[in-house]
Formats: sequence, structure tokens, C-alpha cells
Amino acid sequence: MSKIPLPRPIKAPLVAAWNEAHRVGRLAGDYAWAIAKNRRELCSVCGEKRLMLYRRRVIPPRLVELWGLSARQAEALARKESCDCSGCGAKLRARRLASALLDLYPAAGGRAQDLRAWARSDEAGRLRIAEINRIDGLHEALRDLAHFHPSDFIPDAHRGSYVRGVRHEDLDALSYEDERFDLVLTSETLEHVPDLGRALAEIRRVLAPGGYHIFTAPVSPHVPATFPRARLRSDGSVEELATPIRHPGGDVGYPVFTELGTDFPDILRDAGFEAEVRFGPVSDDDLAQVYICRKPTD
Ligand SMILES: [Zn+2]
Repeated sequence: MSKIPLPRPIKAPLVAAWNEAHRVGRLAGDYAWAIAKNRRELCSVCGEKRLMLYRRRVIPPRLVELWGLSARQAEALARKESCDCSGCGAKLRARRLASALLDLYPAAGGRAQDLRAWARSDEAGRLRIAEINRIDGLHEALRDLAHFHPSDFIPDAHRGSYVRGVRHEDLDALSYEDERFDLVLTSETLEHVPDLGRALAEIRRVLAPGGYHIFTAPVSPHVPATFPRARLRSDGSVEELATPIRHPGGDVGYPVFTELGTDFPDILRDAGFEAEVRFGPVSDDDLAQVYICRKPTD
């Protein structure tokens, strides 16, 4: 860095240009790697055959250290959180969510090839869908559907209220009435809810009989039994019960309340769902499973 202090009107554009040069450089590297490895796939979100851009740097070393991930697990986590479609930007976990959704809800002509095509079908237009916390890629493909209800967790907002056009919902107490939806979508959310059992009960409550909750969650292959990392005290403060971990930074981001282990499907069944794991089972080389929970009809 220069030791000569630059006036702010000059420094700001220089820093911006420097950052942009780095961003473009990294992107060029991602493309070069994907071309060299021939990582071209049909995207289940946008339907284009595109290069999938792997970005190892998406997982911070501090998160790997705190979580105790092996090198293989860290790479698998980076694949889950990247392998971005160079067309629409959907990362691997979003593309797998889309794929599971397309399997479960065929359109009139059969299984749609991609989510954007599916969203144009009458079947999709009739489906009542809740997206609890925005899922990049899926959100853009589904947002124009007539019965699509997106929401985010907005601290200190009233449940069901809108802040700058975004509805606030908290899985601890959803504002929706019973049996309101055919499909609930979440992605990397359940680990951040203070009371996992209550969140699963809330999702089950707002689903119509026969409805599905399709989601991803960080299940650790080296953790046999799910355990709480933290809990919420009655005064709203967080009590640490194990090594505190936050996503995405390790030390920064949203606190993880529940460390999900390989017994997670049993927990889903105990919560009253018929549970199934796609792209599984979880392993050191693949952490991007999709969980499908169906609310029984009887
Ligand atoms: Zn795509």
C-alpha cells in the first residue's frame, strides 16, 4: 500500500478498480479450471448446458478449523456451496434442490428438464409454495408463480410483516395458517433455528396432508448423533453448549444451534414425516444431499 495518503475522491475509485481486477482475475481462473476439467453440465435450474464454476475459497479456513473438517470434507463443502452455473449462478445445492423438485412434481408432458420450464406449466402455477429464506437461483426461477410465498428472517420484525418488500417469517413460529402450502422449501436454515423440533413441527403444521418439505442442511458425516451447539435462554441471549460455530465465516455470521449428524433422517421421521435422502448418503466426498419430507395423508 502507498504511504502517501491519497485524497478520498482519488482513493475510492482506485480501491474499487483494484477489487474489480481481483474479482475478474479469480473468475477467469474459475473458468480456466472448469474448461480444463470439462465441467460442463445441463443446469436443472436454467436448462442451459453450462460450465460449473468450482470455488474452493468459498469455505473460509476458520470454518474448516472450528468444524474439524478434513481436507476432503472441506472440498466437498466447497462443491456444495459453489459449482455455480455460469449461466444462472445457481450453486450445486440449489441445482440439486431443483432436480428433486422436478422429480416430485412432473408437469403434464412428464418430468420437466429444468425449473424455469417447469415454472411455466399449469401444475407449477397451481402449487402453493413457501420459500422460507431466499434460495438464490430457485427464487428467481419461481418468483413469478401465482402462489409463491417467499420470506426471510428479519431480526426484530413482526412475524408476517413486510420490511422493504420482504416478508418476515421465523421457523420458530410461522405466521401462516395450518395446511396452507403444498410445498415448503428451505436451504441451510434448520441448523440456525434455536429449537429444531419446534421448526419441524411448524413446517409440518403449515403443510397440507401429502405436502412436501424439500431442503438441504449441513449434515456432518463424522457426527453420528445430532447435538445442540447452543440454546436460547428465556431472555433471548445465546447459551453456548459446545464450540460456537457461525456460518459462513466460522466466527462471523449466523450461529449454529444444532449440529446435524447422520441420525438426522431418524429425527425427521420422529417429527412425523416420511423422510428420504436424495444424492446420498452423506459422505466425506459429497455433502450436498437433498432431504425430502412428506407429511402423511392420514
Ligand atoms: Zn443455470
